[in-house]
Formats: sequence, structure tokens, C-alpha cells
Amino acid sequence: MSKHVLLVEPRYYTRYPPLGLLKLSSYHKKIGDTTELVRGTTTHVSREPNIIYVTSLFTWAWKPVWEAVRFYSILFPKADLWLGGLYASLMPEHATLSGVNPKRIFKGIFTEAEDLCPDYSLVPDWNKKVSASIIFSSRGCIRSCTFCAVPRIEGKMKAEKSSIRHLIWPGHKRVILFDNNFLASSKWESVLKEIEELDLRVDFNQGLDARLISDRVAKKISRVKIDRFVRLSYDYIGMGSYVRKAINLLKSNGIDGRNILVYALYNFTDSPQDLFTRIKNTLSWGAVSYPMRYQPTNTLSKNTYVAPKWDEIRLNAVQRARRVIGSGGAFPPYEGMLKVKVEKCHTFDEAFNEFMKPLEVIQ
Ligand code: SF4
Repeated sequence: MSKHVLLVEPRYYTRYPPLGLLKLSSYHKKIGDTTELVRGTTTHVSREPNIIYVTSLFTWAWKPVWEAVRFYSILFPKADLWLGGLYASLMPEHATLSGVNPKRIFKGIFTEAEDLCPDYSLVPDWNKKVSASIIFSSRGCIRSCTFCAVPRIEGKMKAEKSSIRHLIWPGHKRVILFDNNFLASSKWESVLKEIEELDLRVDFNQGLDARLISDRVAKKISRVKIDRFVRLSYDYIGMGSYVRKAINLLKSNGIDGRNILVYALYNFTDSPQDLFTRIKNTLSWGAVSYPMRYQPTNTLSKNTYVAPKWDEIRLNAVQRARRVIGSGGAFPPYEGMLKVKVEKCHTFDEAFNEFMKPLEVIQ
């Protein structure tokens, strides 16, 4: 008998639609069920559901997840309520305290829905305003960076698709690749070729692995329409030579440095001076630097962890500089910024004090 499925996205901040829930919708519709998507806690539900799926995201956004679990458990006590998503996968014991039946916590990826086109009919605003299909052309990763949750949740590289055509919603003009390490997929080239043939804009959302960018790779990347930035990461100082080479190759293949954004992880095993060096290097190589604060994969409160080599004052200095001089939180390689503020400084403290002064009063 056909079932009614209620898909719940808790009320936390996110820029993207709940991909897992949209895939579950496609899965249930395929077997003859009906679905509806709600955000937060609401009694405006079209009819009593048989199944409720509550999703979750970052561990620090656990409160709205608990709220949703409790609210819908009381509203629909007869329904089977499942809790899945990132927080549920990383901290199932903590998630159990929300009151969800421990047997109804789903960890990891629901593979039966993985290859289905997400049901974007549930997010008409997204279709109208953003018009993008979010796609994993692969799962997992070839690396095992200790600050990253991917090795724990998805493990080694797998599920590499040679075609993503079937995952693109009719009418969408863009694809957002959520692959953890797109270039590590053995099928990246055919996926890129397909994107080029379909004339879609592409956002390599999770960044490209600088260590895998060769001249051939850079050429292929330069042939697709990039959605604003090619993102790389410069997680530790030892990656410098790879990042520099990748930036040079991308630039020599026609990609403007101002469209190459390099994440600089900080507040992990690095020191403030180390972060400053990475920012300075990135700007001197002509790309945009984006400092990104490390959050432990099981933190219950964002921006509270302070790494051994950092302190609150310096962490706040980075936040302030990103707000005051950054462009969307990033440091662009503008002449003024690079020449006046960065090149003349030698230490983190000197630079971040300098960042706070207006450009015109600096001699
Ligand atoms: S390369 Fe990226 S996705 Fe892979 S383990 Fe490292 S941080 Fe995670």
C-alpha cells in the first residue's frame, strides 16, 4: 500500500537544499509513495505521514535537529521516524539523546537512492533562483586528512560515475559537484567532458586537489565554464609547492588568478605565523586566500575550539580581518592589499594589526 513520507529539514542555516531528502523523495515516488518536504517545525503537513525522515548537517547544528525529532515524534506518534545525515552519522550516541529510537538512526549513505536524480520539484525556489543540480560523481577520498570527516563517513574512493547526465534536473543550468576529491575519481575526465558538451556552468564545490593538477588537467578545467571560482586548498605549509604549481598551471591555461580561491585551514596543527605565511604565499602567487577555521568533526558548538598553538585574541584577529578587509571573507590578490599590507609585514601580529588600518594612512 502506498505510504506518505514526510521529509524534514531542521531549521539550521544552509545554502543548499537537503540533497539526501530529495533523493529519498525520488526513491519513495519510484515505489509508489507520496512525499512532502517541510522546513523546521510546522503543523502545516498535508496529511498524516507513515514515515518521517529528519536530516541533519554539521554537528554544531544539533539543537534544531533535536527540536524537529521531538516535535514530529509528538505530532505523529504512529509514524516511523528516522534520523540521518552528517550529525547523525558522526555522533549517533548524542543523536539518540534527542529521543529518536536508536534503531532508527541511519548512518552513512542510503545507497539505493544514490544514483537517482534528486526530486527538485520539492524546492521550486532553488530551481528558479539557483537552477543548479548538486551531484556527487564519486564518494570517498584517496587521502585521509586527520581534520576531515570524509574518511570516517565515506572511506576510500568509490562509486565513481562516468556519466552524471541522469542526475541533472531538466532546466538546470549549473552543476555543483559535491565530490570530496573530484580529480581522484578515475572518471573525472568523462564527467568534465559531459559538462562541457551540455554547456553547463560548474562549481567544484569541495575544492580540487592541487596535488592532482597537471598541465593536462588544467587544460581540461579551463575548457568548462567555471562558476566563479576554481577552489584549491593549502592546508599545511608543506603543500606550498603543489599549490603554487597548480595556480601557475591554471593561470597559464587562461584562468584568472582572481578566480582561483585557495582555502587556508587554520587553528589545527598550524600556528598563526604558519597561516600568515600561507596567506602571503597565496597572494604573491596571484590567487585569492580564504582562511578557514578548523572545527573538530564532533564539536557541539561552532568556533569554540582553540588549537594548542592558537589563542582567542589571534583567532578573533583573523575573523575581524576577514570581515573588515576581506571580500566575502576572502583576501583577494589586489595590489593594495598585497603590496601595502602583506609584503611589508613579517609576522602574523604585524600583519593582522596592519590589516585593521585603513589603506590610505599606511606609509
Ligand atoms: S583530500 Fe579533502 S576530502 Fe580527502 S581526506 Fe583530505 S580533506 Fe578530506
